[in-house]
Amino acid sequence: MSISVVMLGTGSPRPDLDRSGPSQVLMIDGTPILIDCGDGVVNQLMKAKISLSEINYLFLTHLHADHVYGYGHFLVAGWGSGRKKLTVVGPPGTKELHNLVLEMFKNDIKYRTSLGFPPEGILDVTIVEVDPSQAIPCELPAEVTAASMIHNVPTFAYRFQMGDKAVVISGDTAPSQRLVELSQGADILVHDSCLTTTSMYNHSPRPELKKVWENLQKEHCTPEQAADTAREANVKKLVLTHFLPGIDVNEIYQESKKVYDGIVIVPEDLQVIDVDDVEIADIRKELAIQTAN
Ligand SMILES: [Zn+2]
Ligand SMILES: [Zn+2]
Repeated sequence: MSISVVMLGTGSPRPDLDRSGPSQVLMIDGTPILIDCGDGVVNQLMKAKISLSEINYLFLTHLHADHVYGYGHFLVAGWGSGRKKLTVVGPPGTKELHNLVLEMFKNDIKYRTSLGFPPEGILDVTIVEVDPSQAIPCELPAEVTAASMIHNVPTFAYRFQMGDKAVVISGDTAPSQRLVELSQGADILVHDSCLTTTSMYNHSPRPELKKVWENLQKEHCTPEQAADTAREANVKKLVLTHFLPGIDVNEIYQESKKVYDGIVIVPEDLQVIDVDDVEIADIRKELAIQTAN
């Protein structure tokens, strides 16, 4: 079985030319599962050579703007590219969001169906609002479970279990014991790491951002907190994401390594992380090569 995570967007709500909005694809034997739908998601999918028409499942961790900015584009462009079937799994409010987007684009959708595009794949989307006490019904080569995170709105982390392999996507969260439990023994944990010391908030001349920064401590994690979770959960690879502009990749790496001795990855957009690959995914090697040169 071939399993990998494609980091489509490793950014945050702050626009960043180098990092698209939060979004990733879990690829299971060629079946793509999209998780979150940040700004630029359609372009990033195309750059990653993942066919829009083949994405039949989208999981939303929560409905903050940075995680759904790209939903309208994905919904309509994926259908226009030939998608016949779509299931969207997300927190309460996902159906309302979907219906609002359909309403916003209703004349466009009417126009395209009048041109001859079949309505399947856009007017018959299945929406599943998650109840974390129940298994998520889906026809995927993975068993999916969700856990509620600590964030400002209902937010879920998802665990995708494929035989003895597991991938967990945290969504946005402050440190959470439920995430430690959900991530036990996972091969890959993709974790919110928004609170980096070199972020723009610490260097902004705008005084109100100091208050914002303090409040953000209740909603997100530092790289060290993410690494604490990875250590407590015995995760094999920790992939940090949700970066504000201006981060120092090496500093984030070192901060995480202080508390966790598994593999830490501070990815760029479009980086592919294979469940089984322990070689190129390891940034320690990259740092060693950089130092040697
Ligand atoms: Zn959020
Ligand atoms: Zn976010």
